[in-house]
Amino acid sequence: MIRLVEPYIRFEEVQHELEQIFSSGILTKGPFVQQFTDSLKQYVGARHSFLTTSGTTALSTCLRLFNIQPSDEVIVSDFSFPATANVVEELGAKPIFADVDLDTFNMLPEELEKQITPKTKAVIFVDALGNPTGIHQIKQMCDHYQLPLIDDAACALGSSENGVKSGKIADLTCFSFHPRKLLTTGEGGAIITDNDRWSSWLERKLNHGAVPANGQLDFVDYGYNYRLPDIQALMGLKQLQKLDSIVKRRNQLKETYRQLLEPLGFTNQKIAHHVIHNVQSAVFKIPEQVKLGSLIAYLREHKIESTFGTYCLSATSYYQRKYGQTKQNARYLQEHTLALPCHDQVKAEEVAAVIESYMNLL
Ligand SMILES: *Cc1c(COP(=O)(O)O)cnc(C)c1O
Repeated sequence: MIRLVEPYIRFEEVQHELEQIFSSGILTKGPFVQQFTDSLKQYVGARHSFLTTSGTTALSTCLRLFNIQPSDEVIVSDFSFPATANVVEELGAKPIFADVDLDTFNMLPEELEKQITPKTKAVIFVDALGNPTGIHQIKQMCDHYQLPLIDDAACALGSSENGVKSGKIADLTCFSFHPRKLLTTGEGGAIITDNDRWSSWLERKLNHGAVPANGQLDFVDYGYNYRLPDIQALMGLKQLQKLDSIVKRRNQLKETYRQLLEPLGFTNQKIAHHVIHNVQSAVFKIPEQVKLGSLIAYLREHKIESTFGTYCLSATSYYQRKYGQTKQNARYLQEHTLALPCHDQVKAEEVAAVIESYMNLL
């Protein structure tokens, strides 16, 4: 089976440091947490970074910065993983779904503007499948309306727009290190910001509400424990060191896919010229005559794992039941996008040949 994803980390790469961790007995708040935190900050070029237990806890923590109340609204991209909206729902506030562009799969500025009301407290932009195209425009609009912008860059570590890395564009950025993402720690996430005041708040909140005082801890606030352990941080650190070369290889593979699949009627996710896409997922829009489910099943029969792009949040059972309306473009994309395996064990030619044989059956 050609798997959809394969982690870019092998045991031998961490063996030496794992021995160090085990013999030191320092399993949390240790040197690898520090190194990964610092490296991440340097990689993105931001002032502050915090590791968390997941992309979801990262997003949830960021939202809490804005003291969101049950009557408030947070505007979110509608083409994403449900966690993007769940973190709003969890605070009792209302996620307002903004439809996305059919080519880039990202939040449409006019959709965002239409949804802004006096109740809007924040905006969550999603880099769909790692693509940051259009985020600067959304940032400008948020600045204009004085709304904080959170970048759900769960998929976008290693991407950039206009030469600015994902992590450095929005007011706060959240990454995920779930195995579906290209840098993985099993579970894990991070928050990045340039804001010093928010940074002190995050530091405290992510550590039980405590600040160091005279060699002890002073619990000045209530807080959480969303810390990433050292073994996980070590995994992340190792992958970050080779991230740019991984991104390069994925782009080459995606380009081969594009050349082979476009003649068959498949369309590339639009990545603007001034954007570097990490190719978190190699996703194509399928031709109209193709039924997505049957193509995915056919690929599976031929030992190739694939899946749909991602979810239309407003069309998931929960959100549809609660709020009704589903967004057209996001809905279309859920039903017409195909994510193909994209890693070092994949030959695009082999996958494309199977897709071609499927097309010949139609
Ligand atoms: C994966 C993902 C999340 C959730 O991240 P976890 O680390 O699994 O909690 C949130 N948003 C998007 C867009 C994602 O792709």
